[in-house]
This record gives sequence, structure tokens and C-alpha cells, in this order.
Amino acid sequence: MVDLNDLIVCSVCHADLPLSILDGQSEVGCPACGRRYAVDRGVLDMTPLPPPNEFLISRWSSWQKLQDNGMLSYTSAPEFNLSIGNRKDACAFRDFSKPSGLILDIGCGPQVRPTYLPEGGAVVGIDPLVGEQPRAFSFVQGIGEYLPFRDETFDQILYASSLDHIIDPERSLAEAKRCLKRDGRICIWIDGLGSSISAGRPSTRKKHQTRAKKGMKSLLRHNWLSEIGLSRTLSYIGVVARMTVPEGASDCFHFAQLNAGEVFGWLIQLNLNITRQQDYPEADSVFVEAMK
Ligand SMILES: [Zn+2]
Repeated sequence: MVDLNDLIVCSVCHADLPLSILDGQSEVGCPACGRRYAVDRGVLDMTPLPPPNEFLISRWSSWQKLQDNGMLSYTSAPEFNLSIGNRKDACAFRDFSKPSGLILDIGCGPQVRPTYLPEGGAVVGIDPLVGEQPRAFSFVQGIGEYLPFRDETFDQILYASSLDHIIDPERSLAEAKRCLKRDGRICIWIDGLGSSISAGRPSTRKKHQTRAKKGMKSLLRHNWLSEIGLSRTLSYIGVVARMTVPEGASDCFHFAQLNAGEVFGWLIQLNLNITRQQDYPEADSVFVEAMK
């Protein structure tokens, strides 16, 4: 396990926090800016609340609703919503990203160990959901836009279909660059391509149509029906059908579907070098590697 005490700083001002933060304390305070971070059952929550950022504040309650929907969806059909077992797309991302060195997994999800992570590697995961504890790696609760890690810490940073769950993906990539060592690699699995909804506010009918289409596509894509069975599939459809799309979101789980061009643009803007890319059409995905 990676010792978090060596890596963690205040999510907002990046000052050192008092060491031994996980030893029986219920919160830790930043000596520089005074922000307080909770520790619950040994898990450090480095989410800056409220976030020091008007854009995040304006979307925070909608984002929490999206997170709740995500949690319900994961719980109802984990084998199709999480990178667990031998999911082919997760294995393909592992083959592409070739995890090595000290790894940060941004949006690692609630599962004990995502399929794309190496067994026994030096991994730190960050996610807004506490999820199953303990994880098979060092875990800190937090958000992608405010990473609680020192500058130039990690050899590799992964976003495994998580970038589109972040309120401000562009800000998160800038944070990832800050926490990445020189010559370090950022590997991104962008999924949900080809199902983007145009900007603006689509009519309710159009939204339902798009949702239905997307739902059908994902059921077919993952060979879902044959593996999960009809009754669980119907109950899952029922769960999703009862979800609401929060204000400002494009569906029950995302503010917007990303497209690869947009992500490439952000990487170029950040002066990161795009070194490799690979299409993975079976899951409407693209894998991208960029270096600092
Ligand atoms: Zn601080």
C-alpha cells in the first residue's frame, strides 16, 4: 500500500497537512487555509466543501443527484456498470495503458479493485464515493477538480471512463498535469462516444428517445441480456426509468457526453503531448495517452 501521508496536501492551497492523519482522528485541519477535512472509519475525505469555485457550486446539487443515480445503477447491475471481472473493455484499457510506476486512478469507482488496475501495484485511487472498504489500493475520497496531492507525484494518472462524470473535466486535467511527474503519462478511456446529445435543452420527448436508444445500445453492447437474465434486466430498466435527469444534465448520469475532439483540445491546451490513441469501437470508446 502507498503511504498517503507522504503524498497528501490540502486540496485547495496544497499546504502540507499534519502527518499521521489517519491515526484515530475524526478530522484534519489545513494549517495554512483552515479548511477542515473529515476522516470517517479511516477514510480521509479531501472533498473541499463548499468548493472554492462558483461553477462547481452552481452545479453541485445536480452533480450529487447524478452521483446518487450512478450509485443506484452500480448497485443494481454492478457487472455492467463497473470495471469488475473480465469486462473486455476494461481489459482493453489495461492493455492500452500498461499501468506502471506510482499510479493515480481518478474516479476509481466504488469497487474493491477495478479490472484495469495491476494486482499489487503502487496505486492511489480517488473517488467521490466511499464505496467498498477496504480497497485493494490506497484510497482517498475527493473530487477530480481539486486533487489533494503534491506537485509531480505520480508516474501515471488514469481516467477510466470517469472524465465525463466530473463537473469541470478541463480543470481536472490541469490538476492531473500538476500532480504528474515530468515524462509521466495520463491515460484516458473516453466512453459513450457516438451517443452525444447536441448542446442546448432538448425536448423531453427527445431526451426520452435518446435515453431509450442509449439504454438499448448498452444492453446489446455488453451482451447484457444473456448474462444477467431477463428478470434482473427488467428490474434494472425499472430502476433507471424512475431516475430523474437533474437540472443542467444531459442524462441521468452525465452533465454532457464528451467527444474525443474536445478532450484532445484540452490536452493540447495544457501543453501535454498526445503520444498514442486507440479506438475501441466495441464499446464506443477511445483510449488516449498524453505525456507531460
Ligand atoms: Zn489549505
